[in-house]
Amino acid sequence: MRLHEYQSKDIFSNYQIPIPRGRLASTPEEAKLITEEINGPVVLKAQVLVGGRGKAGGIRLVKSPDEAEDVASKILGERIKDIPVRRLLIEEAVSIQQEIYFGMTVDREKGETLLIASAEGGVDIEEIARLSPEKIFRVNINPLLGLRDFQARNLATDIEIPRELWRSFIALSRSLYNVYTDLDATLAEINPLVITTGKRLVALDGKIIIDDNALFRHPELLDRRDITIESPQESEARKFCLSYIKLDGNIGCLVNGAGLAMATMDIIQHKGGQPANFLDIGGGASSEKVAAALRIMLTDKQVKTILINIFGGITRCDEVALGIQQTLADFDTNIPFVIRLVGTNEAEGKQILADSNLITADSLEEAAEKAVSLSQELSA
Ligand code: GDP
Ligand code: MN
Repeated sequence: MRLHEYQSKDIFSNYQIPIPRGRLASTPEEAKLITEEINGPVVLKAQVLVGGRGKAGGIRLVKSPDEAEDVASKILGERIKDIPVRRLLIEEAVSIQQEIYFGMTVDREKGETLLIASAEGGVDIEEIARLSPEKIFRVNINPLLGLRDFQARNLATDIEIPRELWRSFIALSRSLYNVYTDLDATLAEINPLVITTGKRLVALDGKIIIDDNALFRHPELLDRRDITIESPQESEARKFCLSYIKLDGNIGCLVNGAGLAMATMDIIQHKGGQPANFLDIGGGASSEKVAAALRIMLTDKQVKTILINIFGGITRCDEVALGIQQTLADFDTNIPFVIRLVGTNEAEGKQILADSNLITADSLEEAAEKAVSLSQELSA
C-alpha cells in the first residue's frame, strides 16, 4: 500500500524528520486560507499517487493567497497522469540550495535493507541512475544489527554533505530507518531531501510503501487506505482476499497457490505467451471466490484467454468447478477457458463441467500451449 505524500510527511514529522510547514486543502477557499496562515510564498502539491508530479504540472509555486486560490481552482478536479486531483498539500515554499535523493528499500538478493543516496536528487533521479550510476551510493544494513551511525556518516561523506550537517543527517537517517522498520515498509524515500539556503535539511517530498502482507499489524494505516485509486478489479480482489496483480499480457491466469502461479506464468512465457495477471485464489477457495476471480479477469479488456490451473489439495476441484459454472451462467462471454484440474475431488469437478464448452488439458504444459495459441489467434 502506497501512502500519500501528506501521510508520509505526517509520519516523518512524528519521527522528528523536518518537513515544511503546511496543511491539506480540498477546496480553493481552503487553499487561500492556508496560504494566508503561512503568510508567504507556498507550494501547492497535488496529492495523487503517481511519480513525477512536478513534471506533470502537479507542483506549483505561488506567491499570494489569491494566486493560491486561483491555481488551486485549476488543479483541483484536473487529472494528473489520469488520476483526479482531490486534495492539495499547501506548504511554505522552501528556498533550496541542493536536492539530495535519500531512500531505503529491500535488497531481495541479500535479504537486507538497502540505503540509497545521491547528491543529485530531485525530479531527474531516474535519469541520473541511468546515465551516471556512479553518482548513486548504496549501503547495506543487516536487519539484525540495524543502521549504525558510521554507516550514515559514510553515506554523508559519499554524497558530500557539508560537515556541519552530518549530525542532522545521521539523526534523520536513523529516523527514516525507524519509520521503515516500524511500518514494515518496502520503501521509505525522501526525494528531494533538500539543503536549504539557511543550511537546514528538510524532507520536501515523501514516499512510503507498506508491505501489504504486514498491513494487519497497522490497522491505523489500513483505515487511511485511499481506495479511490484502485481499479475495480483491485477492489474486487481485496474484497475477496485474492492475491491479484495486473500484468501487461493477454492470458488471464487463475491458480491456487503463489508457487503454482509463478510456475504457470513461467510456462506461459516459455511457450511464447504473456500473462495478463497473477491471480492466486489461495487454499480452500469457495466457489464464490473463484467466481470473483473470473469476474476480475472477464472485466479486463486485455484478457483474451483464461487459463485455469488448479492443483487440488485443500482446494477442492468441485468447488472450483462450481465457481466456473456460475461464471459461465452469469457472463455471456466468448473468451475461451483452458482448464487443467487435478487433485482433490477432480472427478466431481470434471463431472460438473462436463457439459460446459471448455477446453481441457491434462498437463500444465498442454494447458499453456493451448492458452498461448488461442491468445495469439484472438489477438491477431
Ligand atoms: P514529484 O515530482 O512528484 O517527485 O514532487 P516533489 O515533491 O519531489 O517536487 C518536485 C520538485 O519541485 C522538487 O524536486 C523541487 O525542485 C520542486 N519543489 C517542491 N517544493 C518546493 C519548494 O518548496 N521550493 C522550491 N523552490 N521548489 C520546490
Ligand atoms: Mn519527489
